[in-house]
Amino acid sequence: MMKKETSVLLILTGGTISMGENPETGSLAPLDKERMLSFLPELEQLPVNISTVSFNPMIDSSDVNIDFWVKIAKTIQENYKDYDGFVVLHGTDTMAYSASAVSFMFRHLSKPVIFTGSQLPLGFLRSDAKENVMNAIEIAAAKNADGKPMVPEVAIFFESALMRGNRTTKKSTDNFDAFYSYNYPDLAKSGVHIKYAPSFIHYEQEEKELLVTPKMENHVFVFTLFPGIREDAVRAFLHVPGLRAIILRTFGAGNAPRAEWLYNILKEATDKGIIIVNISQCLSGTVYMGRYETSLNLQRAGVISGYDMTLESAITKLMHLLGNYNDPEEIKKRLNMSLCGEVTL
Ligand code: ASP
Repeated sequence: MMKKETSVLLILTGGTISMGENPETGSLAPLDKERMLSFLPELEQLPVNISTVSFNPMIDSSDVNIDFWVKIAKTIQENYKDYDGFVVLHGTDTMAYSASAVSFMFRHLSKPVIFTGSQLPLGFLRSDAKENVMNAIEIAAAKNADGKPMVPEVAIFFESALMRGNRTTKKSTDNFDAFYSYNYPDLAKSGVHIKYAPSFIHYEQEEKELLVTPKMENHVFVFTLFPGIREDAVRAFLHVPGLRAIILRTFGAGNAPRAEWLYNILKEATDKGIIIVNISQCLSGTVYMGRYETSLNLQRAGVISGYDMTLESAITKLMHLLGNYNDPEEIKKRLNMSLCGEVTL
């Protein structure tokens, strides 16, 4: 029998991939670990030692919260020395948030953490689950010529692409090709072979011990501008007690109505130390404040650019920074930095 030299920990957190149909209601709900793994007999045949750990209960990812992200990060930290890589099976609905959040919690990551899930449950005949899991495991176990992990990043594998986790967005409710990285190239493509793109993969210069900073703070709010937006509505939520940061979803390259009332409200907020980050409603491209007159007021009001960050990344980056720093200036400084490849400056 072939000696299996690489080991991967499969972390089951829930999502469609782990679900089955409730015969009474017809709706999908998580199965238990044994039932779920019974649909994956192929794991035995892989040239990789696979261990599994299951969250109890497994959940639909719409119920994910900060504690859940901490649990994922801690599970990886506790098992870090014993495995070559990690695969996190997760619901697709909030997978991009979880992969982003976990990426901000890790420093000096030198092993792969690959999130995947599926659009159809493992037990369904036409399911995309098996292919996603098998590819994710192969990627988590892959080594380069020096025997080092091929992809020492938090990434999402879906359908045929490996994408940086904090650059990825769920784009489709029903296509198998459900995720996309709009502003950063894929880290690998899978076809007959898995083709890696090492020039886009982050490799730590020096090997250092993994550092986990699990603290996150959620006094963050997102608001989307639209033509005709009302002053009273904007004013109301800017007065939410304890609010520390806002993501303003602007038009195009970071533009907003020039109305004086909007400027006044935003200025009032930034004067109070509330951080306002400008993220475009467009999925691809970057915020470019000052390019149009319609973003000058935002600049004057102290709104800062979120550049080409995804919404998922901006929210979780803010939660991470608010959890670890009090001074708004410190937070703004770090928003203007790439912490783990989440932004192009
Ligand atoms: N509602 C499911 C979840 O996110 C959807 C999925 O996994 O595809 O948990």
